[in-house]
Amino acid sequence: MIAGIAALLLLERLRPLRHTVEPGPARIARNLAIGAITAATVSAAERPIVTRLSKLTETRNWGIASRLPLPPALQRAAAIILMDYTLYWWHVLLHRVPPLWRMHEPHHIDRDLDTSTGVRFHFTEFLASIPWRCAQIVVIGVGPRTLALWQTLTLAEVLFHHSNVRLPLALERWLAHLVVTPRMHGIHHSVERPERDSNFSSGLSLWDRMHDTSWPDLRHDDVVIGMPTHQRPRDVSLGKTLALPFESPQRDRHHAIRRRVPAA
Ligand SMILES: [Zn+2]
Repeated sequence: MIAGIAALLLLERLRPLRHTVEPGPARIARNLAIGAITAATVSAAERPIVTRLSKLTETRNWGIASRLPLPPALQRAAAIILMDYTLYWWHVLLHRVPPLWRMHEPHHIDRDLDTSTGVRFHFTEFLASIPWRCAQIVVIGVGPRTLALWQTLTLAEVLFHHSNVRLPLALERWLAHLVVTPRMHGIHHSVERPERDSNFSSGLSLWDRMHDTSWPDLRHDDVVIGMPTHQRPRDVSLGKTLALPFESPQRDRHHAIRRRVPAA
């Protein structure tokens, strides 16, 4: 995992996909700080609950996966695929249910998109996801080892598809048939609403194609990243980002501004 992250960070420097709006260490430090608060919240609030619940699920043989007429290894693979599918639906809900969107919006106001955005999630979004995660574990039937494997695979995929790495287009098109890629997820981080309302998948790219939420044109890599309401540096400070879910939704609407698409 560490070698993979180092490779992404190196490739972002050598072969960047998008023009950087806010270069320098301040933005990276901000994203890491937001991620660290969320990691601490997950350790304190989510982990004790889901670890216990996944152990109980395994001992009691709860869930869909354990009922499938398959060998145990394939049951675990099916459980991981179903976890990924239900994560797609959670991400759709984060965008479509206004109180959930307020918790997910801090992730989307980042004006650049790179590996550090992959850890920039507000702690309230992870707190709100605990009941969903518990339901996923019990209904799908996810034991502790399967859960740990899904978490590792998802983290690796999330860091990869947020990264600012310019892969050769032909390679990325091939990869995008299977998993979410940087150009694909970049479209989801666009300031344009129809683009943001597409490409919700986090692991396998199949779910967007299945539910007609896919934006398949990967040549579209000149996306303006962020939210139209949060384009000034002071809109995306650490304090503003952490306070965002607790503010009234109308607050920023009147000074929405748009940034021009940078020249290629
Ligand atoms: Zn999103």
